[in-house]
Amino acid sequence: MIEIKDKKECCGCGSCMNICPVHCLRMETDAEGFLYPVADAEACIDCGLCEKVCPVLNAGEDIPADQSAYLLQYRNARVRRQSTSGGAFTAIAGYVLRQGGVVYGAAYDESLRVHHKAAESAGALAAFRGSKYVQSDTESTFSEVREHLNAGRLVCYSGTPCQIEGLLGFLQKPYEKLITVDVVCHAVPSPLVWERYLEMQGRKLGTRITDAKFREKHFGYQYSTMTLMDQDGQECYAQGIDTDQMLRAFFSNVCDRPSCYDCRFKKRYRKSDFTIWDCYPVYAFDKRLDDDKGTNRVLIHTQKGREIFEQIRERCRVLEVDPDRLTAGVKEMFESVEESPLREQFLEDAACMDAQVLFDRYFPVNTKVRLERAARRFCYRTGIYSAAKRAARKILKKD
Ligand SMILES: Cc1cc2nc3c(=O)[nH]c(=O)nc-3n(C[C@H](O)[C@H](O)[C@H](O)COP(=O)(O)OP(=O)(O)OC[C@H]3O[C@@H](n4cnc5c(N)ncnc54)[C@H](O)[C@@H]3O)c2cc1C
Ligand code: SF4
Ligand code: SF4
Ligand code: SF4
Repeated sequence: MIEIKDKKECCGCGSCMNICPVHCLRMETDAEGFLYPVADAEACIDCGLCEKVCPVLNAGEDIPADQSAYLLQYRNARVRRQSTSGGAFTAIAGYVLRQGGVVYGAAYDESLRVHHKAAESAGALAAFRGSKYVQSDTESTFSEVREHLNAGRLVCYSGTPCQIEGLLGFLQKPYEKLITVDVVCHAVPSPLVWERYLEMQGRKLGTRITDAKFREKHFGYQYSTMTLMDQDGQECYAQGIDTDQMLRAFFSNVCDRPSCYDCRFKKRYRKSDFTIWDCYPVYAFDKRLDDDKGTNRVLIHTQKGREIFEQIRERCRVLEVDPDRLTAGVKEMFESVEESPLREQFLEDAACMDAQVLFDRYFPVNTKVRLERAARRFCYRTGIYSAAKRAARKILKKD
């Protein structure tokens, strides 16, 4: 029976809860806002299945295999604008829908909590577009996927690498009709912190927040913003990584799931078919692709993935790249984020402090922040933002 003694040993995928034959495991939210399995010991029949399918307990080695690598920009400008990077997810998911399949991804509910859901039409896919930097609840989607696959249906499941390995562990055998897409994953922040942030913004902006985009291309791809929509669906807030307090919390590693600080899924060779992520230094690959509208790096791990890619490439601008070059220096692919020394106190405070006081205490909008924002906006207005960022990346040796 699964028993979580060290919280770093559970990524919250829900695989154990989905597999339990007597339904004696349920996912419960802890004081930090993260889900963990809790068992009813009396009902447990000691079958051992929960341990067998757990992706953390069964995390495998990084075993080299053939890979194909590309830069990708989806040709549909509206979809590319709505997508975090270049629209690779929609390109793959769109193929699945055209074959009569079903696609799973992370979407908001009416309270802007993040859950995995199914989409069966191109219109429904829009809800999955946009990275939500908060942990998504997979609920019973793994069981639903198994039902679809057993009925012979094509299924695409997208998520963080631990969710994909959780799903594959749950399924226990390969399915030809399953297509998996994972992202290069920095980490996932606490749903509780996200809830507190929305509470603060709703109060400050005097409206119910109805939608949120963590990576809106308001000022272009290179300077993406947190953008919020009001109760009439109108944009009521847009601030970049310099100022927005949720983005600052995300990038300072102060509220991530404990397992993210010791992630077992940071590796190049994955069990998924596709790994997709950002490409900021697109100019280093091909200057003609550098239009500040978003580009994906796509790493294909399987023959199935390569065959699907052939079906979608016409809808995209693609550039084949050497896989070693595509993955070189991608820190988030290989290294866990370092836990902030403020994490414990921040999450304790998040559970009880007034939301505005909380965010202002840890992420004050002071003179330094205002100056950075002014400098970024100046660069954006004068059209030198991308060049300035490129120079900064060179100085920091990020490219
Ligand atoms: C939590 C998180 C951390 C990331 N960290 C990095 C990073 O450090 N470096 C990097 O280069 N790229 C990172 N990415 C990937 C990047 O943000 C884009 O998601 C990726 O490039 C796909 O781009 P797209 O244009 O195809 O995406 P979109 O069309 O915007 O697709 C979004 C995809 O992400 C999935 N998704 C969105 N939110 C979540 C969530 N909370 N949990 C699980 N799945 C989700 C959706 O299901 C969909 O498949 C991260 C993504 C997420 C979700
Ligand atoms: S050992 Fe079997 S019955 Fe017990 S919690 Fe795990 S899956 Fe459920
Ligand atoms: S990692 Fe997933 S399968 Fe393992 S204990 Fe946590 S929720 Fe269960
Ligand atoms: S960093 Fe690792 S453990 Fe955390 S969500 Fe991403 S893949 Fe899962």
